[in-house]
Amino acid sequence: MSDRVLVHYPWLEADRDRILNQDREGRMHHALMLQGPHGLGKIALARWILAARLCLSPASYGPCLECRSCQLLQAQTHPDYLEIQPEKAGGQIGIDAVREAIEFIQKTPSISGHKAVLLAPAEALNVASANALLKVLEEPSGEASLILAGEAIHRLPATIISRCQLQVVQVPEAEAVLPWLMDQSGASEAQAREWLAACGNAPIDALDNGELVVKVGKTVASDLDALSARKSDPLTVAAHWGSLDTVLCLQAMWRYLLARQQQALAEGSAAAASLADSLKDVVEALRVMDRAHTNPNQQLLLEELLIACGSRLALE
Ligand SMILES: [Zn+2]
Repeated sequence: MSDRVLVHYPWLEADRDRILNQDREGRMHHALMLQGPHGLGKIALARWILAARLCLSPASYGPCLECRSCQLLQAQTHPDYLEIQPEKAGGQIGIDAVREAIEFIQKTPSISGHKAVLLAPAEALNVASANALLKVLEEPSGEASLILAGEAIHRLPATIISRCQLQVVQVPEAEAVLPWLMDQSGASEAQAREWLAACGNAPIDALDNGELVVKVGKTVASDLDALSARKSDPLTVAAHWGSLDTVLCLQAMWRYLLARQQQALAEGSAAAASLADSLKDVVEALRVMDRAHTNPNQQLLLEELLIACGSRLALE
């Protein structure tokens, strides 16, 4: 658990209230799947919902934050609450962790009359651990709640998704998160807007990484402009990007190509088709990077990608 144990983000208020209402009306399934892009605060929302379930005197907005249960959660010592995440970022959630969760759920609650488990990111489950989890989903225990939170849940077996109540967390409008971002970062409105735009309006990403994402985006755009104008070559650009975060470069390249493709489509230009091919290549490169266990040669990956896309860009 991070230091921010029970926080509530303003842009998640509607999602929070919807789920809490469903819970009050007895319409909340024992297993929820919170789905939405990275950087929206899905884990915070999941903790908040589970805290409300464990709370000894819940308020309309969720946990009271004062009772023994809430205090133990804040201190990260609640005996009825378990959080399962991969041991290292980008890693898998193995079968042992899921077995631990199953054992935990089957024990008698000690404080709250209820057991709660948060598992995130859901897509970190592998085939074996997903199968083990199915058992809990198929034979729910009345005294346990489970929330799975993830962004790429299409990677999970359909049997897992179909046994959970799906709650989609929507990306907020920039206007709805600007005051929060400016308050948290001390950034100007223009800066905060720029960070949000670069991070697809994901507020937490914008706060944590906005400045860096904007900087990488500018570098990537100017390098790709130079490549299109044949003022640079793929290997020089790949070497330049070698000192930057590869995933951020790929994401910036994707945004750059998408903007060019939209422009080409608006102009009825034939370049739109080759830009679509380049976009596919970038998505594939991001997929390779996402498979952390494959440990790809990042320099080679960038070189191959830029050679393929560079020749198309220069032909436009
Ligand atoms: Zn409470």
